[in-house]
Amino acid sequence: MGFISLSEAADRLGISLLSLRDLIDRTDRKETILDPDPTADFWSSSTAVIPERDLRTYEHMLARRRFVRFRDRYADVLVDEVELSCRPGWKSLLERVAERLRWMPPAWNVRLRKAREKSGYLILGIEYDSDREDARNEIARLREEVRLSSLSVCEECGRHGRFRYSPSRSLTLCDRHARLSEPTLPGDGAIADPALDGGRLGKPTSD
Ligand SMILES: [Zn+2]
Repeated sequence: MGFISLSEAADRLGISLLSLRDLIDRTDRKETILDPDPTADFWSSSTAVIPERDLRTYEHMLARRRFVRFRDRYADVLVDEVELSCRPGWKSLLERVAERLRWMPPAWNVRLRKAREKSGYLILGIEYDSDREDARNEIARLREEVRLSSLSVCEECGRHGRFRYSPSRSLTLCDRHARLSEPTLPGDGAIADPALDGGRLGKPTSD
């Protein structure tokens, strides 16, 4: 079995070394990294290697994180350069949105322009004929419904999660992925919806 260095792996995957380390950490694969230097630290080691065959696994993970299949499957309700900047655990929410858009009247001309994580919840940017009040109401309802749903789904893996209140990175995560928003702030666990309970986190936006 062949081994390659982390930096070569990152090059071949077309991502930075830091991004690769981050991916390995998020997906709980640190134990698959081999390091001949037993004192080396995962985040700074220059001697770490991975089995070359693991590249395939990372390619699949990256495709999932870039929502490659989702973009393909729902191309009819997405703008060409749709921005999908959330983690893969929210794929089911994106699918729900796309299915809903598909069933809206063709005259509304609805397309998803953006889906982005903000302050721990999912916000949507949707293009449509905004002169129509019925369309405006329905889109507003969908946005709020999805925003609320996202506050109970782990953004990383899709399991049941809750809002984690953190100084650097408030996120909605399951217990297993809670570490991604550590350290948390006092108030963590009491705030279910930052838009309502945590005034200083800001109001929900629809941009
Ligand atoms: Zn999770």
